[in-house]
Amino acid sequence: MKTLDDLLRQERFSDADIIRLLGLTDPEDCERLRRAAYDLTTRLVGDLVHYRGIIEFSNRCTLNCRYCGIRRDNRALERYDLSLEQLVEGAVWAAENNYGSVCLQAGERRDESFVAFVEDCIREIRARTRSERLPEGASITLSLGEQPLETYARWRAAAGEADCMRYLLRMETTNPEIFARLHPDGFAHEKAYASRIQALRDLRTAGFQVGTGGMIGLPGQTLADLCADIRFYQRMDVDMLGMGPYILSRGGDMLDEGMLEQGPLLQLALNMLAVCRLVLRDVNIAAATALQALAEDGREQGIAHGCNIIMPNITPRPVRKRYQLYDNKPCIDEEPTDCRACLEGRIHRMGRRVGWNQWGCSSHFRRRMNLPVVVLSAIDIADERSGSSLMDIPVQHGSTRMESVSIRNRASLTKS
Ligand code: SAH
Repeated sequence: MKTLDDLLRQERFSDADIIRLLGLTDPEDCERLRRAAYDLTTRLVGDLVHYRGIIEFSNRCTLNCRYCGIRRDNRALERYDLSLEQLVEGAVWAAENNYGSVCLQAGERRDESFVAFVEDCIREIRARTRSERLPEGASITLSLGEQPLETYARWRAAAGEADCMRYLLRMETTNPEIFARLHPDGFAHEKAYASRIQALRDLRTAGFQVGTGGMIGLPGQTLADLCADIRFYQRMDVDMLGMGPYILSRGGDMLDEGMLEQGPLLQLALNMLAVCRLVLRDVNIAAATALQALAEDGREQGIAHGCNIIMPNITPRPVRKRYQLYDNKPCIDEEPTDCRACLEGRIHRMGRRVGWNQWGCSSHFRRRMNLPVVVLSAIDIADERSGSSLMDIPVQHGSTRMESVSIRNRASLTKS
């Protein structure tokens, strides 16, 4: 059998390799896996950690996903909707605080008033987040579930020409039996396996940068299932991944099925993130908030295992506790400003920097679009916060190669 070090030096992995890595439990082995993923991340995508300020703008949902605390049949939950002004104000706050990117998430609706509301929000956010530091305005990730292609196209068009729109639609699990168990059918719009895959394709057709992912540690899920998830992400050629541990929700309908024990679940989730980095290489990977429900420093551990994206919660505090997808969701009582300060300190302590005022598109997307790829390291952007805009700046027009370009001359950056 290959030694672990040999295995970790590979660029291509068999299913058996992947399953072996996912199943590591010995602390020294896990640390080797972590190190390999971390090193590959800083080498391929740079030292920056990008923020997406997440605004959870409504907990109304027409679906009944059994794992989810905001599912339709959770009658105990008081439902809320932010107004357009509240939502846009949140995004403007993010841009004023140097976030280059926001994420809009909500329960799932497909009615015209919802679709039009989101369309208006996108237009307003794109117009009102422009500033000297962010001349092209904030980029936006939507996480609003399955929609018909025409809805995706409308939302994409509302943002204008720039490549600033992303969509996160988790496959949840690629095991069709588990998928079916999690998503009861019989209602008009419940998640169905085939339509979910079609939706991911439609998102690409509509011109979004596409992200998917799943839950880790679902009841009945095996390491082979997680390996199949990774193969699916590869086949779909996704730009971004959002994955996190499955955590029991009292508002859900799966109490009887339990969840993995906290310690092993955290390790499995971290292994999965690290293996995804090794296999998918240049995609953006988010350190899910759910990691922090398992360990106080869960998201930092995610960064240490190959993530390069964090989604600080900037939902107005009064409604946050009503967006509990799972139990023990962190930062419920903190103001957006608290989250921001505590996170930045944590990132700095890891020797990484926040990519302030940048969109932070994934290198994978940029390569796919034939855009140049710039890998910035922390030293290159010493005081980017007070400095001028550092959007995704092309320095090598026409290059499709993954380049590590050290940029020390800030003037050349801001001019190009
Ligand atoms: N309605 C949208 C997005 C909102 S839910 C959609 O379906 O795409 C966002 C994500 O939260 C889901 O995709 C799911 O993976 C995750 N989630 C929900 N309940 C969870 C739980 N109990 N544990 C961990 N993650 C959960």
